[in-house]
Amino acid sequence: MKKRIAILGSTGSIGQQTLSVVRQHPDRFEVVLLSANSRVDILSGQAREFASAHLVICDPEKYPSLQAALPGRAVHAGIDALCDLVQGEDVDIVVAAMVGFSGLRPTLSAIRSGKTIALANKETLVAAGAIVMGEAARRGVQILPVDSEHSAIFQCLAAAGENVPVRLHLTASGGPFRTWERSRIAEARKEDALRHPNWSMGAKITIDSATMMNKGFEVIEARWLFDMPVEKIHVVVHPESVIHSMIEFSDGAVLAQLGSPDMREPIQLALSWPERLTLDNRKLDFGALGNLSFAEPDLEKFPCLSLAFEAIRQGGNLPCALNAANEAAVAAYLRDRIGFYDIPAIVREVLSRTDFADNPSLEAIFATHDAAFAAARELIWS
Ligand code: NDP
Ligand code: MG
Repeated sequence: MKKRIAILGSTGSIGQQTLSVVRQHPDRFEVVLLSANSRVDILSGQAREFASAHLVICDPEKYPSLQAALPGRAVHAGIDALCDLVQGEDVDIVVAAMVGFSGLRPTLSAIRSGKTIALANKETLVAAGAIVMGEAARRGVQILPVDSEHSAIFQCLAAAGENVPVRLHLTASGGPFRTWERSRIAEARKEDALRHPNWSMGAKITIDSATMMNKGFEVIEARWLFDMPVEKIHVVVHPESVIHSMIEFSDGAVLAQLGSPDMREPIQLALSWPERLTLDNRKLDFGALGNLSFAEPDLEKFPCLSLAFEAIRQGGNLPCALNAANEAAVAAYLRDRIGFYDIPAIVREVLSRTDFADNPSLEAIFATHDAAFAAARELIWS
């Protein structure tokens, strides 16, 4: 039986790499749903290749141009249509690869109908980790990590069996500004920040990697995925991105997972788990690797990482506000509207203005998101 895959965000970096994995194993996987926000050209090309897949364009304004590009083909518009279609009986696994808070509703909808989730969209867990993991547990839904660090930890935990780790070590490349002085980073334009040394990704996560907010989000993601207190999650800078992450046991032994920096590896593992399939990627060449290096992160240069730790330590709706403020600030930075260090300044200010809710409902999460996003935009335009 082929595994039937729905891809939320098929036109993005993770979405397109998911399709590349599917193309390598057409006997194992079948694409039953493709969705995009607005890039009609890419979506319609994918639609022609995967001729029987349902299609959703989330921005309703783009619906007529998608229809025009695919005459005679049924297409759907809007997030509500996506939330319905992921629940379909023809779906086995949902690849959550939309960017930002937009992924929360369709991911929750898929969980509520019992679908296995291959999770790339970390912002869903940052904003609503307790709710999402609670729903998944209630319905016996497996959430398989796509994020490379979390896939690494997941693989190490599988190898550890009954032995519970005492610490997780999340590796971080350090991004494009790792070796820059703070004064030079302060002047960095988006063109500098978008030049990631090891990974090719969508614009938003690439900026998040430059600020290291991405690593902060990954700490929160790990807290929820592995039910690990934040005090036991350690971030270590490892510029070569060869060790994808590690777990440590009470006797000091450490298990690590290694691989090339190629997202198709964790994507494919999430799709095929618990099996492993062949992949036409570059394998590690240890002779050519030379040294692997490690360092503590510089929190003076990367204050977003501290903000994320503070938000998850306090908990409640603060990680949701952190995510919303960051989403607004990164969008403004990408439009050259604000400077690099305005991103943490805006996030810090929005966090301080957020009304704390200890155990927020889903409605309270949406309200927090909207309020924090609006507060950030006010700071950006003031
Ligand atoms: P991209 O920006 O490349 O792609 C995002 C996808 O989501 C696109 O298909 C886009 O559609 C769609 N989308 C964007 N906004 C909306 C919206 N409001 N409603 C519906 N769909 C929307 O992002 P990435 O693929 O890089 O990242 C996706 C997620 O995976 C993020 O959460 C990121 O943090 C995570 N991730 C990514 C990694 C990577 O290597 N890229 C690694 C680990 C995690 P359109 O093309 O039409 O705009
Ligand atoms: Mg990652």
